[in-house]
Amino acid sequence: MSTKENQTDLKSAKGTKDYSKYFEGVSYKVLEETETLKKIRVNGREAVVFSEPAYSEGKRRGKEEIQVLGFEGIPEDMLGVGTGKKYAIYTYGCQMNTHDTEIMAGIFEDMGFTRTDDEKKAAVILFNTCAVRENAEDKVFGELGRLKHLKLENPELVLGVCGCMSQEEAVVNKILRSYPHVDLVFGTHNIHRLPVLLRESFMSKEMVIEVWSKEGDIVENMPKLRTDGLKAWVNIMYGCDKFCTYCIVPYTRGKERSRMPEDIISEVRELARQGYKEVTLLGQNVNAYGKDFVDRKYGFGDLLDDIHKIDIPWVRFTTSHPRDFDDHLIEVLAKGGNLLEHIHLPVQSGSSSMLKMMARKYTREHYLELVAKIKKAIPNATLTTDIIVGFPGETEEQFQETLSLVEEVGYDLAFTFIYSPRHGTPAASMEDNISEEEKKSRLQQLMDLQNRISRQKNEELRGRVVEVLVEGVSKKDPDVLSGRTRSNKLVNFKGDPSMIGQFAQVRILEPLTWTLNGEAVMEVE
Ligand code: SAM
Ligand code: SF4
Repeated sequence: MSTKENQTDLKSAKGTKDYSKYFEGVSYKVLEETETLKKIRVNGREAVVFSEPAYSEGKRRGKEEIQVLGFEGIPEDMLGVGTGKKYAIYTYGCQMNTHDTEIMAGIFEDMGFTRTDDEKKAAVILFNTCAVRENAEDKVFGELGRLKHLKLENPELVLGVCGCMSQEEAVVNKILRSYPHVDLVFGTHNIHRLPVLLRESFMSKEMVIEVWSKEGDIVENMPKLRTDGLKAWVNIMYGCDKFCTYCIVPYTRGKERSRMPEDIISEVRELARQGYKEVTLLGQNVNAYGKDFVDRKYGFGDLLDDIHKIDIPWVRFTTSHPRDFDDHLIEVLAKGGNLLEHIHLPVQSGSSSMLKMMARKYTREHYLELVAKIKKAIPNATLTTDIIVGFPGETEEQFQETLSLVEEVGYDLAFTFIYSPRHGTPAASMEDNISEEEKKSRLQQLMDLQNRISRQKNEELRGRVVEVLVEGVSKKDPDVLSGRTRSNKLVNFKGDPSMIGQFAQVRILEPLTWTLNGEAVMEVE
């Protein structure tokens, strides 16, 4: 099942042709309109729109088979175009974005560009954005405003916005209205088209917009620039079909689609061959892996069982969804070895009625049963979670149920958030009847509780020897090394820099809330 599409020709760009909503509130003049594009003049700048985001399309889930496309490589006329030029990418949000940045960096390097952290030296600056909460979006708009002066100083600079924010109609609309110095906007489904879009941007001087709001394909063989040689992200699937009522991800990332096991396995084998020590398998809901296969029955448990046999020392995965976490997976994880016993299992709320409002498709009881099963099969399992407070209508009683669940499970760590309404999601139209003050107070109570539990959990490690993958020198003290345990806890200890990239045995002497301080007792590979 492999089809190719013309990546070198912008005329093949896919998009809907209803621009009405997209330009809402934006005063613009149409200069040219053809089958494939629309040229407009807005805010003194010309923009060429090849395709624009459309929520109605983004949330569609049809029956079409997922296409596995092959990256065609860099078009000949773009090879070497970056020689002597630099690029910078600012990344926001989840690991998926971090990995997308590695792919875009790989594409840039294949065109001859080199990376820089100094934005004054960059010929291209990209913002790889996150749309999950409003504050992440505000930061990006703040940065785009800040960079306006750079564009004035250097009109040749190409300033681009990509990632989840680009998939939002309102964001592209706001860029057109208020950030005319942005040159390029492309979506999460358009990453493989970066060379073509850059070519257009370099040549036309217009703002170039290409955001496909489709369910999504899989593009294999994309270049990737992995920098540390130690830990690697590996996508196993894309998109999400869960449609939790608060979440924008299913709209920005398209439908759930799994990479072929053979493609994943050969990528992990290659990473092992190159000497990588750890891989993290990525997906919004890794437990749904394989559900979209039409020609085979092969799930996440089967994939982990196969990866278990590969000679890569550590294998992590994120994120798990409690609804799809099955017994076979628990059985495979219990084999241990390179499959690490850290499970990130977002609960979101401890109240069954809240979970129903969130459309999480499990109850408090089901979640606790699952936790009990995991702990029985994997006694040394470390559990971490995500929790939202202040979801519309959350009562004090329901919030107390969250606190009691946190106490009962005993997470090692929790990522806690105040609910942020996301335009276009079902929860955004629910009545938000909780005051800001109350939301902040709930968040504080939850963090205080979790910090106490995290501290207790870490205290259990006092005097114990743990295995640590040494990642580098500590940010605070150049004489101190830092690394992570199998359960992903940060450990600092005095040691020789030659240990970087190796596994070390470290005795924990001083457990703190978020880190563990210790001493090396032995070096092992
Ligand atoms: N797919 C994962 C899952 O199901 O848990 C995580 C995806 S999301 C990028 C990461 C976390 O952000 C979620 O677990 C949730 O706690 C939080 N989140 C998502 N939408 C949110 C919203 N509208 N407001 C606050 N937090 C949100
Ligand atoms: Fe968002 Fe829910 Fe999908 Fe996670 S499972 S990405 S929270 S919709």
